[in-house]
Amino acid sequence: MTTTAPTTAETAADVPTLGHWIDGALVAGTSGSTAPVFDPALGVATKNVALASQEEIDRAIASAKAAFPAWRDLSITKRQQIMFRFRELVNERKGELAEIVTSEHGKVLSDALGEIQRGLEVLELATGFPHLIKGEFSQQVSTGVDVFSTKSPLGVVGVISPFNFPVMVPMWFFPVAIAVGNTVVLKPSEKDPSASLFLAELFQEAGLPDGVFTVLQGDKLAVDGLLNSPDVQAISFVGSTPIAKYIYETAAKNGKRVQALGGAKNHMLVLPDADLDLVADSAINAGFGSAGERCMAISVLVAVGDVADRVIPLITERMKTLKVGDGRRSCDMGPLVTKVHRDKVASYIDVAIEDGADVVVDGRGIEVDGAADGFWLGPTLIDRVPTSSRVYTEEIFGPVLSVVRVETFEDGVELINSGAFGNGTAIFTNDGGAARRFQNEIEVGMIGINVPIPVPVAYYSFGGFKDSIFGDSKAYGTQGFHFFTREKAITQRWSDPSHGGINLGFPQA
Ligand code: NAD
Repeated sequence: MTTTAPTTAETAADVPTLGHWIDGALVAGTSGSTAPVFDPALGVATKNVALASQEEIDRAIASAKAAFPAWRDLSITKRQQIMFRFRELVNERKGELAEIVTSEHGKVLSDALGEIQRGLEVLELATGFPHLIKGEFSQQVSTGVDVFSTKSPLGVVGVISPFNFPVMVPMWFFPVAIAVGNTVVLKPSEKDPSASLFLAELFQEAGLPDGVFTVLQGDKLAVDGLLNSPDVQAISFVGSTPIAKYIYETAAKNGKRVQALGGAKNHMLVLPDADLDLVADSAINAGFGSAGERCMAISVLVAVGDVADRVIPLITERMKTLKVGDGRRSCDMGPLVTKVHRDKVASYIDVAIEDGADVVVDGRGIEVDGAADGFWLGPTLIDRVPTSSRVYTEEIFGPVLSVVRVETFEDGVELINSGAFGNGTAIFTNDGGAARRFQNEIEVGMIGINVPIPVPVAYYSFGGFKDSIFGDSKAYGTQGFHFFTREKAITQRWSDPSHGGINLGFPQA
């Protein structure tokens, strides 16, 4: 183990290097190019991860392509049995998986278990796939003629995922894609690549044929390899907005089906009649859970009327009780994922001061229950953030909660609707009419009413609006099944003598 943290551009010495999962086996990287993987609570690189060469990218896609026909043609019953077994194994081994997540992401163990649970919910949905890919049948549409439709898999699908949910986000896609008969090449984040390899091994143990699920470690080269390969039919991406836009444009240019989910800046609108204890608890949970590294984190509390003066003391009181430290030690909040990211998030506190905001609680220099070199930043609360400040306009993706004060409900709605992102939002009120109006007028894809993080359950679909998504299909739910299948419409006639003879026009009956 190294004692000092290399930058993300360097390779750590004396640590193991993680490879790929291709054709049902671990494959060592051969490119010579690697990235360090940190334990964020210790602040040291504990592994490297191989970054795929073009030869490895080609090999991974070729393996997935070769596995496709047999997997597509395997009976529904057999595919379903493998999905059920995989669900059982993930559930049995979720404790180990959570420890892997915490050791590379930094989030506390209970939160890592929470993301696995959400992933399992999609996997459970995927086990019921036969019901969701049934076609339709119309008998006797013309004399002796029937029409029916089938939903077929696409072929090889690329999934490219972000660092912040190394289990849940890949599981938004690959269980559904694989259950319906596709093969998947997953390119996980190079910041926390181990969870994907663990899942690949469990899937194999469940009976998944080699080549159906591939893990390709890498950076932009691997992503571009998937985007540019004629053998990859569809791309599911989750990450930051600039990369999501690039993925969407490149995949679309190459004729692929694509869904690219981007960044976020989620607001909670608090009306004066709200239950402010609920608001304070919710702001803490949604603002600082997972150190704010959630695409559905609340980063702005929009306080209507006198709410700010009443709720800020309740929030600061609660912030004092939060224990920040190593996620393995029953703390409330862990470190940020890398030193580079921690420094970037902390720099917004300087920006806030320069822009005239009030830093009510400054998380820099916090005392933690963990190693001195960990990538720490404590929960931070900033009041009176000007909406022109980069603190307000940019996604910070850390434990920094801003308060913006507005006069009226209408001002709050207008503010939220004027933002670039549209992932999640919430309203806190006891006025059902106001909540109903909010739900109707707000231009955001996922809305909470007295619920701060309104992530839809697996049988609905996940996705925002505007710069939070590119493409018209959301993740999982019925939209996920739609994304990973394509419909064939079949018109058939069997040995009916009344076919009408020669007729160059459309049939009339
Ligand atoms: P990121 O955009 O840096 O990386 C995402 C993936 O893209 C990774 O696999 C990475 O290797 C790859 N990548 C990075 N740079 C690339 C490039 N130039 N070309 C091609 N591929 C590239 O995102 P991140 O920092 O890993 O994750 C955090 C971001 O993800 C935040 O913006 C967050 O809001 C967003 N996110 C969104 C959702 C959602 O559902 N909308 C969910 C989770 C995370």
